[in-house]
Amino acid sequence: MLTKTDQDTLQSYLSDASNMPGGSAERILIPESQAELRTAVQMCAHEGQAITIAGSGTGLTGARVPLGGTVISTERLNKIVSIDAERLRAVVEPGVSLLDFQTAVEEQGLLYPPDPTERAAAMGGTVACNSSGARTFKYGATREFIERLRIFLPDGEELNIRRGAVFAKGNTLTLTSTSGKEYTLPLPTIQMPAIKHAAGYFIKPDMDAIDLFIGSEGTLGAIAEIEVRLLPQPDRIIAGVIFFDALDNVMHFVNEARAASLKTRTQSNVEVGIDSRALEYFDRNALDFIRDEYPNIPPATAAAVWFEQEVTDASEERLLELWYELIGKYTPFMDEAWFAITEKDQEELRAFRHAVPAKTYERIRELQQRKIGTDMAVPDAHFRALYDFYTEEFAKERLRYIIFGHIGNSHVHANIFASTPEEFDHAKSVYHRCVLKALELGGTVSAEHGVGKIKRDYLRDMYGAEAMSDFAALKRVLDPKGLFGRGTMFA
Ligand SMILES: Cc1cc2nc3c(=O)[nH]c(=O)nc-3n(C[C@H](O)[C@H](O)[C@H](O)COP(=O)(O)OP(=O)(O)OC[C@H]3O[C@@H](n4cnc5c(N)ncnc54)[C@H](O)[C@@H]3O)c2cc1C
Repeated sequence: MLTKTDQDTLQSYLSDASNMPGGSAERILIPESQAELRTAVQMCAHEGQAITIAGSGTGLTGARVPLGGTVISTERLNKIVSIDAERLRAVVEPGVSLLDFQTAVEEQGLLYPPDPTERAAAMGGTVACNSSGARTFKYGATREFIERLRIFLPDGEELNIRRGAVFAKGNTLTLTSTSGKEYTLPLPTIQMPAIKHAAGYFIKPDMDAIDLFIGSEGTLGAIAEIEVRLLPQPDRIIAGVIFFDALDNVMHFVNEARAASLKTRTQSNVEVGIDSRALEYFDRNALDFIRDEYPNIPPATAAAVWFEQEVTDASEERLLELWYELIGKYTPFMDEAWFAITEKDQEELRAFRHAVPAKTYERIRELQQRKIGTDMAVPDAHFRALYDFYTEEFAKERLRYIIFGHIGNSHVHANIFASTPEEFDHAKSVYHRCVLKALELGGTVSAEHGVGKIKRDYLRDMYGAEAMSDFAALKRVLDPKGLFGRGTMFA
């Protein structure tokens, strides 16, 4: 195990993509095997040191920003243990990057659907955050693909939890470590919204034990090994970026594409139908932000949508017709749309999708700003109300912003730019009004990034003080000294 204490090395572990300031740590431990990860946890627990587990640092909420103590980096736990194409299962260590993993499974004709846009993320980080991405519209979040987790608890005990093996009884969850130690966890009586959601612990009566750890943001233990479910790779994909002249047209297009997709998925008698796996949105400001790199964006565009659909040789032609018909109903810019049939062209469209958030975070870093980006989602019926609330508030308050993201899931990111501390405080107060509006509309404060340190107050807005102390009581059963993820989720 490597131990580093020099300031230069420490620096690169004190931040994440949120650019949250104030990180500090006494040392970095870099285990080179799962056994060493366990030793590292035991060592810190013995010394009473706060523990922050570091993946790749692409998180957007300050969750991996350490507030003192030790950082345990998973960067050398980067083995793909196995890929079983017949059983459609793979086992990985937590430091494997999403890019390396997806490349490896694709080489075997397989698909791992979770796809947070930033593929430098480590697999452990994506499980700890229950990350989502464009394909979540069809396949759900990371949670849906996690079959087994090996976890080292703050007392050094090991859990090996398989999906479908251990369930809560009502509101009590009993976990047993591999050495036979029992933990009885009282589950808070909260109601999670039935939409894309990644804020706070996953809690439901009679829940599967594995779900508690997915999305727990490094606060309950160290994920040491992950078994995931895979799918066969689809034959082919068709994709397009469609430009629109008016917001109303975008909303009608998305509502119709979403409804058609859900119908195709749920009705077995639809032979060939629209079934988008991604519906992603870019407002005019977002497009202007990357216009230098993409000068062929039509000048009169009000907004754009990127879609992808899986097809077979037999269905491709008919599906292209169905998409052309639908698109033609809502945009006068049919001739300017970008369609991608070949894998190379599709990669270019994905690069376009990635360019917006990547450039945003780059800009924020350059200007040494803190990120102010919404991650709220609401039920589909209320999306337009939330969207209009954002744009009206931002215009009224004269804020500079861009909006992009997962419109298929009624979940977009509004990113506000603030150059001075005063602008930052002002933007934060507007952001808070947006949070309260999303909650009023039955939404969540985080649909995919988690709450980390910068959004933990919003979790309280969502669930209330009593539920927060119930969450803390649950954590205390596993982590009585509050060593793991100090400052994340709880003050
Ligand atoms: C350009 C860009 C685009 C993005 N787009 C998306 C998107 O579309 N969807 C999305 O969901 N996210 C997105 N993100 C956010 C980010 O990529 C994800 O949150 C990712 O899952 C974080 O992984 P990481 O390895 O970088 O985690 P880190 O930032 O290193 O850590 C995040 C949290 O996970 C914990 N953690 C990490 N590894 C472990 C482990 N082994 N055991 C226990 N806890 C652990 C950390 O302690 C911390 O709490 C984006 C980020 C960027 C920069």
